[in-house]
Amino acid sequence: MKLLITGGAGFIGSAVIRHIINNTKDEVVNLDKLTYAGNLESLAEVCESNRYVFEQVDICNRTEVDRVLAEHKPDAIMHLAAESHVDRSIDGPAAFIETNIVGTYTLLEAVRQYWQGLDEQRRTNFRFHHISTDEVYGDLGELPSPLAGEGQGERGLDPVGRIERSEIRQPDTLPLFTEQTPYAPSSPYSASKASSDHLARAWQRTYGLPVLVTNCSNNYGPYHFPEKLIPLVILNALENKPLPVYGKGDQIRDWLYVEDHARALYKVVTEGKPGETYNIGGHNEKQNIEVVQTICDILQELRPQENSYRGLITHVKDRPGHDLRYAIDAGKIQRELGWSPDETFETGIRKTVEWYLNNLDWCQRVQDGSYQRERLGVTA
Ligand code: NAD
Repeated sequence: MKLLITGGAGFIGSAVIRHIINNTKDEVVNLDKLTYAGNLESLAEVCESNRYVFEQVDICNRTEVDRVLAEHKPDAIMHLAAESHVDRSIDGPAAFIETNIVGTYTLLEAVRQYWQGLDEQRRTNFRFHHISTDEVYGDLGELPSPLAGEGQGERGLDPVGRIERSEIRQPDTLPLFTEQTPYAPSSPYSASKASSDHLARAWQRTYGLPVLVTNCSNNYGPYHFPEKLIPLVILNALENKPLPVYGKGDQIRDWLYVEDHARALYKVVTEGKPGETYNIGGHNEKQNIEVVQTICDILQELRPQENSYRGLITHVKDRPGHDLRYAIDAGKIQRELGWSPDETFETGIRKTVEWYLNNLDWCQRVQDGSYQRERLGVTA
């Protein structure tokens, strides 16, 4: 099968491409504009494969998207191209509207026309997999006090009132995002992703395009751009720079190792049912401060230094509209497609810290901008 992957030079897209080239016989066309987040050096281990092709194309450019579809004739699309950094969306939302909404619309229209022109068998087997985030569901709110160990059997709050909950809240009965949770995005990033999810589902419902949607929690792992929390903390700590933590650091996120996500996405595009949504998560809810402290402790063990890395933690003014808690119920993909994560947070974060320590040259080239100047395999 031939997969066209948009955003394949990004953090998750490159993990998906490495997974497919290394573990299957499928062919991959990587369609990526190469924004600051696109880094072909993350694909160095697969770019020599004769099953891999790169096309430097903007998903907003209909003529070029049409050309790529006509030339490569893919059997499925995995759409990951997006502007993805929440802080950047607050400072400059325009690019998020353009790529995430207009770009997804442009791609859907091009793919619809291409798909309608396929013969019946290829049309039936075709898939459009739209990759999205759990941030579209909004905020699950504060944890109730029993979780903090104060008292037993208190009535649970349901800050958003959107999920059925038991009378007595226990940690394992806290509300989670399910595939039925209504959308309530908070940031320009999540609002733009929510919008693109609605478009993708509308193209299924209105035109019959075989669309699958996945909503996943926070990813972490190798080749993560250093503006994101985990790589930023690792790299700052190594340089003895402050480790910025928003507010008290009590925001809770579910963390998924990127290679587990890549496996899940491949399962969905090959075995998922068109029209369905699958939530993907790692069953690893952690407060941001715990994540930062864990990284400091692993570094203390692997790169001991006299002053503790934890001493570098610096609390900074919270992000406006910052959601307190996201948590995913990934039961459906587990039940229906047999996927579950291989890594726990403890094993995944250790692997990640080790990867950064062993790949400081990759980080250096991102930080000094040389990854953008000397791009591997650019065809144009
Ligand atoms: P990323 O920012 O690392 O990569 C995005 C890629 O898209 C880059 O290679 C960039 O060059 C490309 N791109 C941007 N605009 C483009 C355009 N107009 N045309 C073509 N290519 C363009 O993002 P990521 O973290 O790999 O996320 C990939 C997808 O997964 C996104 O849709 C994101 O919303 C979703 N997602 C991310 C996470 C996460 O934790 N990172 C979690 C859930 C879902």
